[in-house]
Amino acid sequence: MISLKNITHIAFDADDTLWGHEHVFVDAKARCLKLLRPYMKPGMDLEQELYAFERKNLKIFGYGVKGFSLSMIETAIELSGGNISGTEIKQIIDLGKEMLAHDIELLPGIPEALAAFKPHFKLLLITKGDLFAQENKIARSGLAAEFDIIEVVSEKDAGTYRSLLARHGIDPAGFLMLGNSLRSDVLPIVEIGGRAVHLPHEYTWHHEAMNEEDGIGYWRPDGGLSELTKAVLGAI
Ligand SMILES: [Mg+2]
Repeated sequence: MISLKNITHIAFDADDTLWGHEHVFVDAKARCLKLLRPYMKPGMDLEQELYAFERKNLKIFGYGVKGFSLSMIETAIELSGGNISGTEIKQIIDLGKEMLAHDIELLPGIPEALAAFKPHFKLLLITKGDLFAQENKIARSGLAAEFDIIEVVSEKDAGTYRSLLARHGIDPAGFLMLGNSLRSDVLPIVEIGGRAVHLPHEYTWHHEAMNEEDGIGYWRPDGGLSELTKAVLGAI
């Protein structure tokens, strides 16, 4: 466990921290794979093929459903040798639209944690991805008014966090970040001298998954968000 004393700002990641999200991708991938199965050569690992396009395209499209939809279409065209039909491409596009409209379901304990923290700390929401899609989700979540600062960034690395904190005049020493991704929400914060709490979610995208290193200054409470909330309030 890390010290939770002298915290001034608490930041939340959004996808799979405030609300469930990756399950939408998992479900869409399964449906896309089903659609493409007739075009697959024997022994082909379609999930790996799709991930290869997705990873390559991240540098071009960035994170989010729209880029993922284009990657599904590109995979379909490539794997079918150009034989995929317009009707099937339309099904993939519809799948993408469905992903963008998915219901926002807050994860357990989120409203309670926000209400408990609000009187004592400045609250931030920091999420990465497509600006339009993320703003839309934040609006539909009903949580926008709970946060003092909302930032949608294109990458979550040490440089991004450093400049974001500097822009808002936040000292990293008083900054605590909560999130489901070690790569995006935890390790870069530790790197810039802040504190981080890892709240793992049932699903983690390949790209965010990584091996743990020992001895790094973050905390993963066994009791998840409720244990964290108690500990933070206890340290005031
Ligand atoms: Mg997340």
